[in-house]
Amino acid sequence: MNALPTTVVADQSGHIIDWPEIKAAGRSGRLIIPIAPGLLIPLPEGSTLYLLPHRRAIGFGNAGMQESGKKYSAVAAFLPPGYVALSLAAYKSEKNAPPLPLFCYCAICWYKGKFHVPAIRIDHDPKHDPACFDMKKVNMEINRWLRKHPKNRLVSHHGLNCVRKYGCPNAANLFLKRWEAPIAVSNACNAACKGCISKQKSGSVQASQERIDFIPTVDEIVEIAVPHLEKAPRAMISFGQGCEGEPLLRGELIESAIREIRRKTKRGTIHINTNGSFPEIVKRLAHAGLDSIRISLNSSQHDLYSAYYRCRNYSFDDVLRTFSVAQKAGLWISVNYLTFPGTTDDITEVTSFKKLIHKYKPHMIQWRNLNIDPEWYINTTEQACTGTSATPIGLDVLISQIRKQFPKIRHGYFNPPVRHL
Ligand code: SF4
Repeated sequence: MNALPTTVVADQSGHIIDWPEIKAAGRSGRLIIPIAPGLLIPLPEGSTLYLLPHRRAIGFGNAGMQESGKKYSAVAAFLPPGYVALSLAAYKSEKNAPPLPLFCYCAICWYKGKFHVPAIRIDHDPKHDPACFDMKKVNMEINRWLRKHPKNRLVSHHGLNCVRKYGCPNAANLFLKRWEAPIAVSNACNAACKGCISKQKSGSVQASQERIDFIPTVDEIVEIAVPHLEKAPRAMISFGQGCEGEPLLRGELIESAIREIRRKTKRGTIHINTNGSFPEIVKRLAHAGLDSIRISLNSSQHDLYSAYYRCRNYSFDDVLRTFSVAQKAGLWISVNYLTFPGTTDDITEVTSFKKLIHKYKPHMIQWRNLNIDPEWYINTTEQACTGTSATPIGLDVLISQIRKQFPKIRHGYFNPPVRHL
């Protein structure tokens, strides 16, 4: 008989061990289910294991679901970029357990003598791979840029905050003059996503990055964007980063910057990561020379989207209009689909997402794990979920269905360069 995966726990001194008599469980929405061996891959290099405080491990024993009591804490894995979590960590929270920080908590188990996770690799691009970064060189380049551009606040923001404080790979790639480089422009947002990584009001959870605290000038943007686009391999600059709010709130600034950049160079891709709230602004950016847009969604359903994004001066219909505008303008369109097992693969969401794809024909779906405390997300969105009573089909099944039904769509995690001049 083939052995089944067993539960991974942390003992009272924090050592991560397996609990061999208890079969591993994972979470899909509110469902706690055994982890199927067919979903497992060895724990990817670059993953981080988390001990989940105030959360007791759960698994399946001979008598059914079993809780560890205070003996063991639950453990989860944070996966490196490019991997999609198919099942989240299963645990029982203690009363008044504080919310977990903003990460994705993938289930982890012990199988065939090593750690495994229910996940798939969706993107093989190594551009965020720690092995690709010589940090000594990055730091030397930051110092050199600071001397060369002493007045450019974007250089100090991306160098001193993004690289040195937060270890942002895109920002490091700016200083290494390669691939996708960030240009942060907006200190404000018109949404209040529950899991926003750059602003949290609740006080119980910390934003993982600080927002930019100034608005750059066109000159500051152009000064770093043009040399990057002219020289970098697979050159790309992106507005809309983890260290800012919504870039479309700085539409005029971006429009002027794009015009100036395109006056100086036709090379490389100009891209924006956005919540897609202002279709008219996207139209103007496309006229100015924007090449590519990535629109973020936690859901393709109005209510579920609104429950999480908590939009202020726009609605989900505006986001759909942005898809339409981008399609008409011939932009490369990616959906940044923030996945959550049990919600994203719920049949109501699956049906509605396929309709969105059919209608707006995005070129790419970026499958990204939603970084949030699972129970926090479920409690926030539960009222808006119309179909969670059914058994979810599985994110792996959803991805393979979309591959079959929409064979032209690219699947991945990273923004691809789409203009190679
Ligand atoms: S749209 Fe982006 S910046 Fe705005 S609240 Fe949501 S995650 Fe934060």
